[in-house]
Amino acid sequence: MKAGDILTRIASKSQQLAVRSLDKQVKLAVTGLSGAGKTTFITGLVNQLLNASPESLPLWDLAREGRLVSVTRVPQPDLNIASFDYQSALSQLSAQPPAWPHSTRKLTQIRLAIRYRSEHPLWSTLSDTQTLYLDIVDYPGEWLLDLPMLAMDYRQWSQTMAQVLELCPQAELDKFRQACQALGESVGDETLARVSEQYRDLLLYLKHERGLSYLQPGRLILPGDLEGTPLISFFPWLEAVEDWDDLPESSVVAQLQQRYSQYQSQVVKRFYRDHFRYFDRQLVLVDCLSPLSRGEAEMRDTAKALGEILQHFHYGERHWLTQIFSPKIDKLVFAASKADHVSYQQRPQLLNLLENMLAQSRQELQLQGTQIHTQTLASIRATSDHQVDHQGQTLPVISGTPQGEQAGHFYPGDLPPQWPDSDYWTKRPFQHMRFLPQPLHKGQARHLGLDALLQQLLGDKLK
Ligand code: GDP
Repeated sequence: MKAGDILTRIASKSQQLAVRSLDKQVKLAVTGLSGAGKTTFITGLVNQLLNASPESLPLWDLAREGRLVSVTRVPQPDLNIASFDYQSALSQLSAQPPAWPHSTRKLTQIRLAIRYRSEHPLWSTLSDTQTLYLDIVDYPGEWLLDLPMLAMDYRQWSQTMAQVLELCPQAELDKFRQACQALGESVGDETLARVSEQYRDLLLYLKHERGLSYLQPGRLILPGDLEGTPLISFFPWLEAVEDWDDLPESSVVAQLQQRYSQYQSQVVKRFYRDHFRYFDRQLVLVDCLSPLSRGEAEMRDTAKALGEILQHFHYGERHWLTQIFSPKIDKLVFAASKADHVSYQQRPQLLNLLENMLAQSRQELQLQGTQIHTQTLASIRATSDHQVDHQGQTLPVISGTPQGEQAGHFYPGDLPPQWPDSDYWTKRPFQHMRFLPQPLHKGQARHLGLDALLQQLLGDKLK
């Protein structure tokens, strides 16, 4: 081979390497309490990206500037994580009549390759296009609510949960206590599993009937792959104990204490070690409207749960998360989901409501240097905005098909301008409705705010 050919080959090799090193990877984690809209969000986002155009995503620079070349699904990098089932979700939305996809129950992942033209003069001379690999990881927000368990021993945790359980019907709580009292020494796995099922029923009552979310252990409610394992078969001890510091080894309380510490290390800490530490960007979806329509206690519980979730991004040098590993999330977006449930006039109030919920912790967070952004979002829009004349006035309304009703125009009422006060709870002017999804248009859903969100989360990576 001639010297000139060799040089050309070396030059093109190093160019290829340089080009490959231009490819980027971003791990975007999506969470929120169950029902917040995670599955719908990922379905909607993937659907918009696969069908992206400047018209459908005008606030995303890449699409608007015509620099987006293509988006394709590619095999996910982490083979030990279940795949997000986009195809089934899309089939449900494409059914006649369309249905919402099934909710998130465990950790899942999907990878997209976004090919684009860089606006950077150097990168664009080196190669026509670059690729950003976007890994979207979905996990239940309930799992993050286990974090405080790491700061409590089994005794303290039992006391905390005893207070929470007071909201259960007395007869059900008595049954659980009787089952605990009847336990002998050195109890077998099956017996512990049976009583923990009773405890799970109490938690599920609090979740579904009382709308509470601050319930532990989170994996007992959404076990994911831990379903049926002894790791989640434990419960708080509500009975008197003679000496907590000197428990006989064979006692059931000592057994439960041991299960509790195994849960702390093998479940709670493990999630941070195996997954959370690798996330680059985090989206937290918040359904503000459901707790608002349920009542004051539910609203406070959601705010408390959000406060706990925020703790995860509040890591100063002395936070225990930083002591185990270095979390790297540098952008955090809180989005008030299902914004298509309110009229366009009420959307600023919805954002206000979300910001009020976050108010306390957010001020501290900004001091820590994590960038936080808030917005409203409808990942898959089920309504459209209209105006109607009502008693001589123009009223902004939403149009859609509420579950079990005929399609029509609706005025769901006003959201509180600030954190709801006693006056609001007496009048309750907002009525929460659930709408059926609309048929897709040429395979594409409609959305509100996904383009602004993409710009916020990925804009800096796609310059
Ligand atoms: P997950 O538990 O966080 O995965 O929540 P899902 O994504 O399953 O959403 C729960 C329900 O909320 C869905 O079945 C829909 O009824 C509703 N929902 C979620 N996102 C939207 C949205 O953007 N618009 C509307 N109208 N409803 C939504």
